[in-house]
Amino acid sequence: MADEMKNTLEIKGLTIQYVTGDEVVHAVTGVNITIPVGKTLGLVGETGAGKTTTALSILNLVPDPPGKIISGEIFLEGEDVLKMNDKRLREIRGNMVAMVFQDPMTSLNPIKTVGEQIAEGIKIHRKVDDKASLEQAKSMLELVGIPGGRAGEYPHQFSGGMKQRVVIAIALACSPDLLIADEPTTALDVTIQAQVLKLINELREQSRMSMLMITHDLGIVAEVCDTVAIMYAGRIVEYGTLEDIFDHLRHPYTKGLFDSLPDIGNRRAELKPIRGLIPDPVNLPPGCAFHPRCDYAKPECSQQLPAIKRISDMHYVQCHLYADTDMSML
Ligand code: SF4
Repeated sequence: MADEMKNTLEIKGLTIQYVTGDEVVHAVTGVNITIPVGKTLGLVGETGAGKTTTALSILNLVPDPPGKIISGEIFLEGEDVLKMNDKRLREIRGNMVAMVFQDPMTSLNPIKTVGEQIAEGIKIHRKVDDKASLEQAKSMLELVGIPGGRAGEYPHQFSGGMKQRVVIAIALACSPDLLIADEPTTALDVTIQAQVLKLINELREQSRMSMLMITHDLGIVAEVCDTVAIMYAGRIVEYGTLEDIFDHLRHPYTKGLFDSLPDIGNRRAELKPIRGLIPDPVNLPPGCAFHPRCDYAKPECSQQLPAIKRISDMHYVQCHLYADTDMSML
């Protein structure tokens, strides 16, 4: 495991497009992200904002074609993923970096026992024999709260929450430095969601692993994240510590996300969904892509892309409301 002061992940100026015929989908534009060792960053936004494309790029898994990494660098423990050869990429996938997706059934093989599936990665990356890897698979099952004796069962013999625990066991089997969790609890019912989230968090703390939590759910962010990146139409429009985003938010889109949350303490409060729809990434609005939906839009918003402004130590926002002289809060 890397030294405490280092970053597990550093993404710099990442731009990814999907090109089909004459159409160019602007999936990710100029994204910068840093995750220090042992910390969790929440990547938040609506479906289609570019969150999953960003995640796939970390393992160099953006399908090419039609995906094209136009520019940027992705450093994992200081090594540029985009310059790795296929052998090195195979070594890091599932070993240095592991992913947990939304639907456990897309990650599990229905015709292999869960024990075999957990043991597979251990065998490849740890170079141990069948017997030793199966023993380790059983301990991983125990770690995620499933009796090791169930290692010989198949995925269909487990409930949805248990299947996601199995997926987490597979992901953590080789003690990755970085766990990418892409909406890991969205497919589960609410009580199971809380259990799975607690489990991920506990295991992360024990192993001092770093995590990229991709979600549209600010409740999950509040529970597990140290820093937050708010993504809209392929760009990170606000970035800061949990406190910056929850107590001192600046961007109108971030405000819209919070206003559209149900207020548990006040059941009669009206939900205010953000008006309009996320724009077509083939035809992004000029200037600030949020301007057609923004209650604070000024004339320049539809003409000019706002610069990224630093509000405080780690707090950044990309919005015309924050010219150097105007730092008032929404
Ligand atoms: Fe709204 Fe303008 Fe800020 Fe975009 S730049 S979020 S349109 S105020």
